[in-house]
Amino acid sequence: MAEPKVGVLALQGDVDEHLRALERAGAAPYAVKTPAEFERADALVVPGGESTTVMKLLERFGLDAPIVERVRGGMPLWGTCMGMIVAARDVADLDQPTLDLIDITVRRNAFGRQNQSAEVPLPIPALGASAFPAIFIRAPWIERCGPAVELLAKRDGRGVMVRERNVLATSFHPELTADQRVHRFFLAMVERFKAERFKGKNFTAA
Ligand code: GLN
Repeated sequence: MAEPKVGVLALQGDVDEHLRALERAGAAPYAVKTPAEFERADALVVPGGESTTVMKLLERFGLDAPIVERVRGGMPLWGTCMGMIVAARDVADLDQPTLDLIDITVRRNAFGRQNQSAEVPLPIPALGASAFPAIFIRAPWIERCGPAVELLAKRDGRGVMVRERNVLATSFHPELTADQRVHRFFLAMVERFKAERFKGKNFTAA
């Protein structure tokens, strides 16, 4: 099968790092700023950045409704840090609507001042035995997970990596390290989605 076309939302944030990391992991990534660019994507990555700004820009660029429609229809989406906040159902400390694509409640900038930026060896059993070098930058944590949400990693007892069906969210930034395991995990979700769509089935993540 051809390399998956993974759009990286490019309204604001660490877009280039994601483009490079996705390419290294074997995808065909490109920047998405308009609904027409989004249209041809097999999957979407929402990078780190500033969630309040990006939520306003999504609306202004007319991207919010198409993203919600396609992701609810099974298109894979991965949000890192700010992307997790944008995809969450609820944000504990923010009175602004989100895309509501994954049934979690998050708290922004939650790990405290001294930990605004840290690299932590994070056990992620779904990715194998060795810890993942997880970079946290003013990262959110997850305060509540809905019943269909798989909790894939915790830091200090708080959820920092989750998946619900076709939506993956990480508090940390795998695009800033050489370890490609989270990217490969997401690309496996994308391949499954493409295969199911090819067969005309509804997508269900294994
Ligand atoms: N603190 C940012 C926010 O609330 C997220 C930080 C990041 O994406 N690195 O949007």
